[in-house]
Amino acid sequence: MLVDMRDMLRHAHAGGYAVGAFDLVSLDFLQGILAGAEGQDAPVILSLAESHYAFFDPELLMPAVRRAAERAGVPVAIHLDHGSTLEAAARGINQGFNGVMVDASTSPLNENITRTRAVVEMAHGCGIPVEGELGYVAGVEGEDAERHPGEVIYTSPEEAAQYVETTGVDFLAVSIGTVHGRMRGEPQLDFERLAAINARLSIPLVIHGGTGLSDTQFRRLIENGVAKINYYTALADAAGDVIGRNALSGDKRSYTDMVTGTQDAIRQEVERCIALWGGSGMADSVRAACRPWREIEHLIVYNTDDATSDEQTTAMMEEGRRVLGAIPGVQQVVTGTSVLQDAAYRHCWLIRFAHTAVIDSYREHPDHKAFADTRFRPVAANRISIDFRHELD
Ligand SMILES: [Zn+2]
Repeated sequence: MLVDMRDMLRHAHAGGYAVGAFDLVSLDFLQGILAGAEGQDAPVILSLAESHYAFFDPELLMPAVRRAAERAGVPVAIHLDHGSTLEAAARGINQGFNGVMVDASTSPLNENITRTRAVVEMAHGCGIPVEGELGYVAGVEGEDAERHPGEVIYTSPEEAAQYVETTGVDFLAVSIGTVHGRMRGEPQLDFERLAAINARLSIPLVIHGGTGLSDTQFRRLIENGVAKINYYTALADAAGDVIGRNALSGDKRSYTDMVTGTQDAIRQEVERCIALWGGSGMADSVRAACRPWREIEHLIVYNTDDATSDEQTTAMMEEGRRVLGAIPGVQQVVTGTSVLQDAAYRHCWLIRFAHTAVIDSYREHPDHKAFADTRFRPVAANRISIDFRHELD
């Protein structure tokens, strides 16, 4: 089931364990990660990184991710990893993410605060929690090195307190010595710094660059407030190793021959991580502590007045699909005309919101107000509307 990530990570932060946020780049990852979470009866975060959009089209993959989350037997949240801009975060929310990260960590503190606060205002208006990053988690090797160039910059506890206070982020990614990608040797982590940050803040902390840490290091991270661990490189390596072995064995060479076994390799690594990070068997108590994530539909049935032609109504609906569909928190705008000529109401809007909070932010959004006041309401006085919540079994 899809749940509110704030509730999920609060439960982990209070309960002394961490939820894995596993980046996925294909259906093999999606299925392998969920099989791992279900195998351990644990909550899980399905994470899609903007930097991986070269490998898939999020508009195509997200419906599969949503569907997988809804039918999963364990609590699931869907998170946008390393969103680069306000627009990317808004687009992500409209595509179905129920948590977003804004990464302005390469900017100076003041600019990071300004950019992060803008995302928080927009996302909170949509009911969506936000992860910020302060300090800088660099990459050292492999594909992630180019995406995270430069040196590690450690998070300062004082700046972290100021950043969280002024931006309103729900979760904070900290930099205490981990790196994106593969580690060379065992990294030195600054646990004193982490403890100081955790003491100053009362929000779940996040670690990026989890691949290659020792069991003891993971345990100490979690003891000091880390409730979400981002993890990708080891999954990608495990799947890549399987493909490498398949390529060398015998004379098979088709795509399906190559990827056979990758899902299971991903599942095994996910299960190992979940067990190590304390999430095994937590699904029931997380489910009890979390608000379920239900979509809201805004339905209007209406007739246009006699002075308005069918062509004008069609043009108005077309404009509405474009204008209203771009408002943050609006996942889909469907318009329709009755099949029968003598229906009591001839036309409808069906607008899918990410969360109940969007009912208010949508109503107040300038683009909605302008459209409703000048294009729709003047010609459609005869209308009925309802906001309703999905009821899923
Ligand atoms: Zn990261």
